Amino acid sequence: LFISFEGGEGAGKSTQIRRLSAALRAKGHDVLVTREPGGSPGAEAVRHVLLNGAAEAYGTRMEALLFAAARSDHVEQVIRPALERGTVVLCDRFMDSSRVYQGVTGNLEPDFIEALQRVAINGVIPDRTIILDIPAELGLERARSRGQAVSTGPDRYEKEKLETHEKRRHGFLDIAIREPERCKVVNAARSEDLIAAEIQKLVEVLLRP
Ligand code: C5P
Repeated sequence: LFISFEGGEGAGKSTQIRRLSAALRAKGHDVLVTREPGGSPGAEAVRHVLLNGAAEAYGTRMEALLFAAARSDHVEQVIRPALERGTVVLCDRFMDSSRVYQGVTGNLEPDFIEALQRVAINGVIPDRTIILDIPAELGLERARSRGQAVSTGPDRYEKEKLETHEKRRHGFLDIAIREPERCKVVNAARSEDLIAAEIQKLVEVLLRP
């Protein structure tokens, strides 16, 4: 079972992934928690380039290609083998982040992004994608209060407008409208406990024999 988590800054993906993995392990499931960009040695090497301002230095097209290279390595080296062993894989960001960050707010053509995804994931599509939805202003406030200097460039975090974050939020919601079976939107503006309970329900139905 392959579950990806998506959402903007401060939506609480890592907290919720941690809670879900603990709940699943307590029930005896073998769980692998991984993240993008990164998750395999090759992809972590590319992550370093990406998070140090690849878009600013080389342009968004190059950035998208690097994300795709990292994703391909992550899929082939880590995700596919884990799924074949019967492990539940929880991945912090996956193909939808590319559609939103490089596509919607990076202004790359949808066809280009989709072609890259096809190559990168090579048939490994999440069974469920949990989209943690939060108003941009609240998410940013949360990210800042946690001291997360989330950024793919030296000062991108400061430069980006609220409007950009709202565009991404709508980008994720549009994907959920297009793929309602795979994507489930969870209101992340609520308490951690409520969100965790809802996610657990959404995932447990997939694990029933
Ligand atoms: O911790 P988090 O997953 O939120 O941070 C990773 C950061 O990498 C994002 O905030 C975003 O700025 C960037 N990113 C991106 N394109 C992707 C995935 C992540 O620009 N496809």
